[in-house]
This record gives sequence, C-alpha cells and structure tokens, in this order.
Amino acid sequence: MDCVYCDKPLECDACGEAFSPKGLGEYQALSRPEIPITCAGCGAILVCHWCKTPYDGEDEEP
Ligand SMILES: [Zn+2]
Ligand SMILES: [Zn+2]
Repeated sequence: MDCVYCDKPLECDACGEAFSPKGLGEYQALSRPEIPITCAGCGAILVCHWCKTPYDGEDEEP
C-alpha cells in the first residue's frame, strides 16, 4: 500500500508498522481525506513515515 501523498510504501511514523488496509472500506478511506485512519499496530492516527502527512481526517486544502 503506497502513501497517496508521496507514493512511498505507507508506514506508521510512530511504530514503523507497514499499513495494509483491512478491507474495502479502509482501502477507500485512503483516497478520502475526510476519513481518519488509525494504525493497526499502535492505534495512533496514521502518519506517513516519509512525508509526515497525517491521515487524520483533516482536509489540508489551502
Ligand atoms: Zn503504528
Ligand atoms: Zn507519504
């Protein structure tokens, strides 16, 4: 699963766990910035290890 923002393999910045969607809903949530995604490993809001973009449901449109 690649980060939708930087196209690198999506890893949790907090624990290093590689993110893999548990189902279709979570997969679709990745492309919908209004839906927050939490890490399956540590339970924190998922933050991309590479570009530090949080998948916290906050749309970052300027
Ligand atoms: Zn984690
Ligand atoms: Zn990224």
